Amino acid sequence: MTGRVDILVVGLGPAGASAAREAARAGCSVLAVDRRRAAGEPVQCAEFVPRLIGQDVEGMAPVAVQKIDAMHTFVESAAFDRTGGFTGTMIDRRHFDALLVEQARDAGADCRFDTVWECEFKVEAKLVIGADGPRSKVRAAAGLPEPRLIETRQITVPLLDPNNATDIFLSAEIEGGYAWLFPKGEAANLGVGVAPASRSKLKPILEDLRRRLIGEGRIGEAVLGHTGGAIPVDGIVGPEAALPDGTPVLLAGDAAGLTNPVTGAGIPAAVMSGALAGEAAARWIAGAADALDDYAEEIDDLFGASLRRAVARRRELERACAESLPQPADLRRGWIAYPEYWAARPAFPTPEAPNPMEAR
Ligand SMILES: Cc1cc2nc3c(=O)[nH]c(=O)nc-3n(C[C@H](O)[C@H](O)[C@H](O)COP(=O)(O)OP(=O)(O)OC[C@H]3O[C@@H](n4cnc5c(N)ncnc54)[C@H](O)[C@@H]3O)c2cc1C
Repeated sequence: MTGRVDILVVGLGPAGASAAREAARAGCSVLAVDRRRAAGEPVQCAEFVPRLIGQDVEGMAPVAVQKIDAMHTFVESAAFDRTGGFTGTMIDRRHFDALLVEQARDAGADCRFDTVWECEFKVEAKLVIGADGPRSKVRAAAGLPEPRLIETRQITVPLLDPNNATDIFLSAEIEGGYAWLFPKGEAANLGVGVAPASRSKLKPILEDLRRRLIGEGRIGEAVLGHTGGAIPVDGIVGPEAALPDGTPVLLAGDAAGLTNPVTGAGIPAAVMSGALAGEAAARWIAGAADALDDYAEEIDDLFGASLRRAVARRRELERACAESLPQPADLRRGWIAYPEYWAARPAFPTPEAPNPMEAR
């Protein structure tokens, strides 16, 4: 593949497709590439988005699967705590990603699948948007470090008691993570994420929870699908950088570390940051010298405070895990459904602060 474009977008997940759409709408020539064979496949997601995402994505109705009215948090074996406010929608993620790519194409972006970006990519671009996910090659090529990544494992199971709540399971056993059961009508996504040091426990933890839920009559025996994936948990990386040849780079979505390090939720941040990166890139191409710095500032304004809180809460919990078994109070302080999470401002970690999970 050879040629010249204004903007090369690497990755056509929610961040890349949103970036390609906005840059093309602003009149830039845009090539967007993805190594996958088709948009959103395979799905690597629990498929929950908050209600407000409807403001950022047009035409969401056909990809919505069911409404979510509340979150139920189970701390160890206690009865669940119900939290309203965490309302949203379970989506069909494959169709969601395909919808965003269709919108980018309608805006005039050239979107190509089965195309892997690498440093020797022959297309010349004035600017590159790295929207290539948690293990971003663009980020690495720009000399930025890879954030720590949480590992996950998820299965889809029959749901015997269809309901409108996301279930969250917190336990000292699930080190540096949590498990979830997210309903999708008559099926549900059942998954778990843990710190890298506990990766070998993913399978047994998921199997224990599956057995427990089968025993409680909540889910059926069948396993309808498997997936997994990585989640960045160190907060913002970049998001402004440059390739070794000087080509400016903007990072968006997971590539920029915008997924929440506690909840793992990253779709809204990917959509928003992608759109902002596309707009900023187009302004820069049109001659606005400050547009890229403005993007970095906007990202910090939008996501900085909540990501720093989440990173700090994660580290507190990791410290508790390293010292002894975390108690229910530690688990509650580390989870967004509890006032303790939002209460006292945590001591934000400095780059020098040792992370006890890494030392194990
Ligand atoms: C198991 C799991 C469950 C999750 N559940 C939720 C949830 O319920 N709600 C939520 O909000 N978030 C969830 N997330 C997080 C969410 O999926 C991500 O935050 C989101 O996908 C980020 O979008 P993105 O566009 O930045 O990256 P991605 O969706 O990862 O897209 C990156 C794209 O880049 C492509 N790519 C990578 N390298 C290259 C290359 N070298 N060349 C070309 N293309 C490349 C990939 O193929 C991919 O399509 C979950 C994550 C996991 C792993």
